[in-house]
Amino acid sequence: MGKLEVEELFHYGKIYRDVVLHVPGRISGSFKVALMPGLSDAHAHPQVIDVGERGRWKNSYEWIANRKLRVREEDLRGDPELSSKLTIIALTLSLLDGVTMIAITGSLQGNLLALRRLKYHPRVIMLPTILNKKGWMKLEDVYTFLPDSTRLDGGKISAGIFIHSIGLTDPKTVKEAISLGKGEKIPVAMHLNEGVGEIEVLRKIAGNNLNEVVAIHCIEESEECKRLGLRVVSCPLSNLYLYERTIPQLEFIDAFGSDWPLVTGTLRRALSTATSIYKRELEVLDKATRGGYEVYNINHELDISLYDDTLERIVTGEAHPRTVIVGGQPTVIEGKLDGIDRGEAERALRETINEAFSLYGVDH
Ligand SMILES: [Zn+2]
Repeated sequence: MGKLEVEELFHYGKIYRDVVLHVPGRISGSFKVALMPGLSDAHAHPQVIDVGERGRWKNSYEWIANRKLRVREEDLRGDPELSSKLTIIALTLSLLDGVTMIAITGSLQGNLLALRRLKYHPRVIMLPTILNKKGWMKLEDVYTFLPDSTRLDGGKISAGIFIHSIGLTDPKTVKEAISLGKGEKIPVAMHLNEGVGEIEVLRKIAGNNLNEVVAIHCIEESEECKRLGLRVVSCPLSNLYLYERTIPQLEFIDAFGSDWPLVTGTLRRALSTATSIYKRELEVLDKATRGGYEVYNINHELDISLYDDTLERIVTGEAHPRTVIVGGQPTVIEGKLDGIDRGEAERALRETINEAFSLYGVDH
């Protein structure tokens, strides 16, 4: 057994001093701070590399209909090779930033290919997207995919359903997806209330059967979302980027999402922004660690991010972990993931984005 000596252990909102953690294998050492579990990213699109103009949008539907992207997203998502490269970089940067759990949407093929190729990754919740639009999956397609992949890689990969949004999915499908999730005990997530109130419409479709549905954004009616038992994931970086506002009260938020890890940064950046908005550092950090796991009912046994840095610098996003353990398996060691450091991962990101723009770029 390895022995990790930790000056401060942050676990479920509390700090424990001078703790020894026993982990399988040979990894040992002394650290200033451990987060157990590590950071959790409850919502990420790992293939998003361009998001359009900043700050001028009222809601997500207006943004989706009018944004001028510099890349043909549909073609990019239809390219499993390039999509998988982007996912690999998003998961690598996340691990290097201390993220031990991430929920990903986007290209299912690209994401599966990435997981097959990666030696190490955070715990992943795969959420294939249902959307009534050409090039996207239908509920039947997602359903046939789910049974084989619900418990892969010793519980480090699990799956659920992502409904793109109420406005872009037909009501019957939304209702069926929510019942399917309940029946199969798999998570169902959706973009909700992203600048426009949708609770009444959702209740008309699904009744009061909404508890445990994971609602992403909820910048409108956040109190109502919480009261109905929805699990609220806030993405402060993209909310501020697109709409210049986010959920004002921390108590209506269960967990945080990076939304666009390759554009605005990983959960480390979302944590930094949340800390500056809400101030209550330890409560914010609790939601940014345990929060994501609870939202998706994911086990976090032996998921630990270990730092040679202070808690103050962790909550402000300035600290990077020296070691990251996922399910007892060391992944990041001495700040490197399988020999790759942040600089190399960021270089790979720039190269892959250039490749994506050269293949699928648009001139406006
Ligand atoms: Zn999103």
